[in-house]
Amino acid sequence: MTNAIYMLDCYLKEFEANVESVKDDKFVVLDKTAFYPNAGGQPYDTGKIIRLSDNAEFAIVYVAKFGDVISHEFSPAGLKPGDKVKGIIDWDRRYRHMRMHTAAHVIANVIEKEAGAKITGNQLGLETSRIDFSLENFDREKFVEYEKKANEIIRENRKVNLSIVSREEAEQKLSRLTTLAKGFPPEIKEVRLVEIENFTIEGCGGTHLASTGEIKGIKIAKLENKGKDNRRMYFELVDSLL
Ligand SMILES: [Zn+2]
Repeated sequence: MTNAIYMLDCYLKEFEANVESVKDDKFVVLDKTAFYPNAGGQPYDTGKIIRLSDNAEFAIVYVAKFGDVISHEFSPAGLKPGDKVKGIIDWDRRYRHMRMHTAAHVIANVIEKEAGAKITGNQLGLETSRIDFSLENFDREKFVEYEKKANEIIRENRKVNLSIVSREEAEQKLSRLTTLAKGFPPEIKEVRLVEIENFTIEGCGGTHLASTGEIKGIKIAKLENKGKDNRRMYFELVDSLL
């Protein structure tokens, strides 16, 4: 099991760890990591690992999660089990994904609450992110208001609180506040909660901002009708609100 230290400290840019195993001279598992894996619609982190004994550098080009183990693809070859290393996250990329992820929670919950939409999927990107939802009555005009509402929550700079709680506690809190992320698989014993104060609590394993103000602003870029009740919304980040 990898200790995923980004879960409670999303602002960790550097960390020290031990190499637990290496596969094919290409994939490394550490005892703990701040590198976020490709998961839950949020893209993986990139960066580098420096071996402390000789300062040899290895690029991290992909990160994946298998059960509770996080595997980092690195190059060139050379890392060995037992090596002590320092990991350094490519912060520009990660921080952009944090802004996108917290923004996605804000806008997704606005359209859930205001339009009664049901979120069915999402994919975050550096420039554009996508949210899929089902909604019978698709009134495009209304999305101007939803964008405004989302930007109000951003402007109010609400705190984002992270916690890891038991499954039972999570189910209680979530059922009161949102229908999202219910029905965890039975093997899940603990759930990481992301709370945007006085707005929403969701089960989510992604990396988040400390407060909504850091999103700065969002813009809905495109709305698509994917047939039946399926809709798709693309949004972008903006660096200042009018
Ligand atoms: Zn999330």
